[in-house]
Amino acid sequence: MKALVWHGKEDIRYDTVSDPEIEHPRDAIVKVTSCAICGSDLHLFHNFIPAMMPGDIMGHEMMGEVVEVGSGVNGHLKKGDRVVVPFTIICGECDQCKRGNFSVCQNSNRKKHLADKVFGHATAGLFGYTHLTGGYPGGQAEYLRVPFADATHIKVPDGIPDEKLLFLGDIFPTGWQAAVQCDIQPTDTVAIWGCGPVGQMAIRSAVLLGAQRVVAIDRVPERLEMAEAGGAITINFDEESVVERLNELTGGEGPEKCIDAVGLEAHVTPSLPDTVYDRAKQMVGMESDRPHVLREMIYVCRPAGVISIPGVYGGLVDKIPMGQLMNKGLTIRTGQTHVNRWTDDLLRRIEEGQIDPSFVITHTVSLEEGPEMYKVFRDKQDSCVKVVLKP
Ligand code: NAD
Ligand code: ZN
Repeated sequence: MKALVWHGKEDIRYDTVSDPEIEHPRDAIVKVTSCAICGSDLHLFHNFIPAMMPGDIMGHEMMGEVVEVGSGVNGHLKKGDRVVVPFTIICGECDQCKRGNFSVCQNSNRKKHLADKVFGHATAGLFGYTHLTGGYPGGQAEYLRVPFADATHIKVPDGIPDEKLLFLGDIFPTGWQAAVQCDIQPTDTVAIWGCGPVGQMAIRSAVLLGAQRVVAIDRVPERLEMAEAGGAITINFDEESVVERLNELTGGEGPEKCIDAVGLEAHVTPSLPDTVYDRAKQMVGMESDRPHVLREMIYVCRPAGVISIPGVYGGLVDKIPMGQLMNKGLTIRTGQTHVNRWTDDLLRRIEEGQIDPSFVITHTVSLEEGPEMYKVFRDKQDSCVKVVLKP
């Protein structure tokens, strides 16, 4: 089959690889009808997350049709079922899965020894996302092997186009979880850094969850426009001081809730000197991530407020203002998304027309064009916000 394969930093190719097969009774094989490129894939493209290996198949946002099931799937899925595949692989029966903490499933990471060493404890297996999370082949491919398929799926009805459902596997529940973790009150101002696909879903989620006001921060004009269309007041961080403007909007009190939908690759610009410092340290290997947004959020967040971090970090960050964080009594909530915890509710909201997540799609192309689209998405060329690939 054909798939997008990681060969090294900024080197993803459209290759021929072997077809996946049932390896375990609980596996299923899905024929992928649509998949997407996620902001998390860019961190792998730039080789910022450790433990990618040449030959790894990319992709963790995908959906399709079940074409084969193992004998242990026990009727939970059958040939012909239409499924969105969550990016988190879950066993459904460990202590964490039973509590709904799916992204830290205790059984699905087949490289547990590696993750135990690096993170202290292994987290769930993830599709197409480094050997720290199991080294599972991803779904930017014609076919996908789904381990623990009896639990690792979201069944979706026919009659709704792929585009409306695909993001149930990642960015929609990710933006939703980021907003839920803020425990939004009707009087809250929610500030969201990053208007990429995750930020866009967080904006709509915060509005649906009843925030009084949502403020979105980025510097890409068409992303800011999309944020405004979703109900946010916007701040262009290239043109004005984020801290000053947020304080001005909140009578000097700061936003009660802050969401980091940027992650470890905050833009580097001389007008934000700490980003230049981070870039320099990153280049000599003394810091793995660029945490400008974390610093800004901790500084501007209202005392006793919440900082919610869906943005991905890979390792060590420097100069985190611990004194401000502690003295202001801020709460930090974060994590890879517990996708299946949210998807029954979110599917219902799509079916009822409360939200149509396809608004974020700007490019739909063939899988073969994928390698080029990584650059288009990364560089925001051609007003690109979200890419859907058709194998
Ligand atoms: P993206 O790269 O398209 O979006 C990031 C946005 O942040 C860009 O629009 C960029 O212009 C903006 N940005 C950069 N520096 C900024 C700054 N200083 N202030 C404000 N905005 C700034 O990616 P995405 O798909 O939206 O993903 C965003 C983050 O969410 C990534 O780190 C990704 O890995 C992460 N993510 C996490 C999960 C999870 O389970 N927690 C799931 C999906 C994605
Ligand atoms: Zn993702």
